[in-house]
Amino acid sequence: MTQSNSEFDLIARHFARPAANAVLGVGDDCALLNVTNGMDLAVSTDTMVSGTHFFPEVDPEHLGHKALAVNLSDMAAMGAMPYWAMLAITLPGVDHAWLGAFAKGFFDLAEEFNVSLVGGDTTRGPLALTVTIMGEVPAGAALRRSGAKAGNDIWVSGHIGDAALAVAHRNGRVKLDEADHKEAVMHLYEPIPRVQLGQALRGLATSAIDISDGLLADLGHICRLSGVGATVELSRIPLSGIAVKHVETDAGLTAIVAGGDDYELCFTAHPNSRESIDDLQDMLGVHLTRIGQVRRGKGVSLLGSDGKAVKVDGRGYDHFSGT
Ligand code: ADP
Ligand code: MG
Repeated sequence: MTQSNSEFDLIARHFARPAANAVLGVGDDCALLNVTNGMDLAVSTDTMVSGTHFFPEVDPEHLGHKALAVNLSDMAAMGAMPYWAMLAITLPGVDHAWLGAFAKGFFDLAEEFNVSLVGGDTTRGPLALTVTIMGEVPAGAALRRSGAKAGNDIWVSGHIGDAALAVAHRNGRVKLDEADHKEAVMHLYEPIPRVQLGQALRGLATSAIDISDGLLADLGHICRLSGVGATVELSRIPLSGIAVKHVETDAGLTAIVAGGDDYELCFTAHPNSRESIDDLQDMLGVHLTRIGQVRRGKGVSLLGSDGKAVKVDGRGYDHFSGT
């Protein structure tokens, strides 16, 4: 894009901050990064499009947080330590108040995790955000989706379903009361990426994924790539006080197990690792719950308390299904 004064000003004003972790950050043709010997470089990109990934009227500070949080969550799922981010932002116009709030949400979270924004791109068009995150993981030690073995336990962090219930409320499929809605929306817009947990799981988890598309769908990815099946017990899935009120309804259950936007980690581990994983709960202050078992075969089955399979409509978000 041709460099206009306003584009230059916009970048300087909102996005050019000293990059503590980089040899060279924003301002030149490339950023320069010093990668540690013996580490693999972990890289991931996520795009958020207005109307698809967030409601157009969303608070820009929340959006700045979320754009980075979903990428940090990918680092967490690989057991990687995030260091550097790139931000490609497409804007319908220049609104400095909006950009200031967006940058605040982004940089507050970046500082919390010692991540430097080292570059990006700025263009005009319908609102969309792409963040690329880079980090390091000891060579060969990354948590992959492909390592689950029959007999492994299936675990999840935190609790599942609140963010998707906020979306289902907005779409009129579920009705949350005002206090519950307020809290669920925070889970939707301010997910806490489980970065420390991911790193602590290196050497313990046999596979891992972060839950963005829905618990069943994301666990399904682990199964497909590991060549195994999974059985999840509905009664074991950790639910918040909000989700407990809605899990008995079809729409509520669908949101909880298939809705996504949780950004919790789902991982598998050998039963010998139970004690070590339990210890992580206190060390890291995060709930870890065993929800089922990896088995031979294919696919994810969800069992009710009567031991029978529970049917769920929709199995996670797919941008191109039905097109
Ligand atoms: P080029 O024309 O070489 O692509 P740009 O004018 O797009 O350079 O960008 C100038 C500098 O500003 C580069 O270092 C680029 O990485 C950085 N930059 C552009 N947009 C952003 C943004 N939204 N956030 C952070 N850095 C950005
Ligand atoms: Mg450019």
